[in-house]
Amino acid sequence: MTSRTFSFEFFPPKTQEGMEKLRAVRTELAALRPRFFSVTFGAGGSTREYSLATVLDIQRAGLDAAPHLSCIGATRESIRAILTEYKSHNIHHIVALRGDLPSGMAGTGDFRYANELVSFIRSETGDWFNLEVAAYPEIHPQAKSAHDDLINFKRKIDAGANAAITQYFFNADAYFAFVDDCRKLGVEVPVVPGIMPIGNFSQLARFSDACGAEIPRWMRKKLEGYHDDIDSIRAFGLDVVTDLCDRLLDNGAPGLHFYTMNQAAATMTIWERLGLENTLG
Ligand code: FAD
Repeated sequence: MTSRTFSFEFFPPKTQEGMEKLRAVRTELAALRPRFFSVTFGAGGSTREYSLATVLDIQRAGLDAAPHLSCIGATRESIRAILTEYKSHNIHHIVALRGDLPSGMAGTGDFRYANELVSFIRSETGDWFNLEVAAYPEIHPQAKSAHDDLINFKRKIDAGANAAITQYFFNADAYFAFVDDCRKLGVEVPVVPGIMPIGNFSQLARFSDACGAEIPRWMRKKLEGYHDDIDSIRAFGLDVVTDLCDRLLDNGAPGLHFYTMNQAAATMTIWERLGLENTLG
C-alpha cells in the first residue's frame, strides 16, 4: 500500500491573504501525509512569481513541492532560468506540461509540445528532476484521434518522464482502457488518476467543456436538478467521487492526485470515506 502515490494540487494565490488561507488549507491536508503538493503554472509564465512563492512556502514547511511548468510561448532561455532557480532551491520534482496560451496571446516560443519540454529538461538537468506529465483518458480535446493522443503521450514517456497524472474524469472505464492501451504499447509508468471533487456545478461544467472531461448525462441531470442547492450538489458530488476513487484504487490505480481548488474540506471527506488514514507509510 505504501507504494501508492497521493498528491494534492494547488493554484498559486495572488495576494498575501490568499497565501495565508492556502497555508491553513495546506496544514490540514498535510496531516494526510501526501507524497507531494503540486502548484500550477500559468501558460506563458503569467503566474511565475506566485507559483515560485507558493512552492517555496510549501518547501519551507518541510513538505515536498512539485511545481508545474508549462512551455508554450516560452523560450529555452526562460525555461533554463526556471530550472536553475528550482535546482538552487533543491526542488527535485516537476509536472511538465505544454499549457494553453490565453486567447489573444501569440504563440511564438521554442516549444510546441510537452515532449519537447521533457527532452529539454532531461538534456539540461539529467536525472535531477522526477518528471510527471499529463495524460488524458478521455482524449485531449485537440488530439486528431485517440490513437494519435496515445502515441503523443508515449512520446513524453520516451523523452524521459517518470510518471503521469491524468486530467480528471468521472468515467472509470475510460481510465482503465487508457492504462490497458499504455501497457500494450509497453508504457509501464504509473498513471495516477486526477480527481476533481465537485463543489459547484457551473464551474465544473465550464472546466469540463474546456478540458474535454465528460460529465456523464445522469450526473449532469442530477446536478442541474439541484439548482442553487449547494448542500445537495456537494453531498451528491462526495458520493460520486468517493465511489469513483474506491473503484479506481480497488482495481489497481497507483494512487490519486486531487485537484483541491485550494480547499481542504471535500478532499478530506473523500479521504476519510475511503479509509485512507492508515494506508500511508
Ligand atoms: P501535450 O502533451 O503537448 O499535448 C497537447 C496536444 O498536442 C494533444 O492533443 C496531443 O495529442 C498533441 N501532441 C502532443 N505531442 C505532439 C507531437 N509531438 N506532435 C503532434 N501532436 C502532439 N496547464 C497550465 O497551463 N498550467 C498548469 O499548471 C497545468 N497543470 C496541469 C496538470 C495536469 C495533471 C493536467 C492533466 C493538465 C494541466 N494543465 C495545465 C493543462 C494542460 O496544459 C493542457 O491540457 C494542454 O492543452 C496540454 O498540455 P499537455 O502537457 O498535455 O500537452
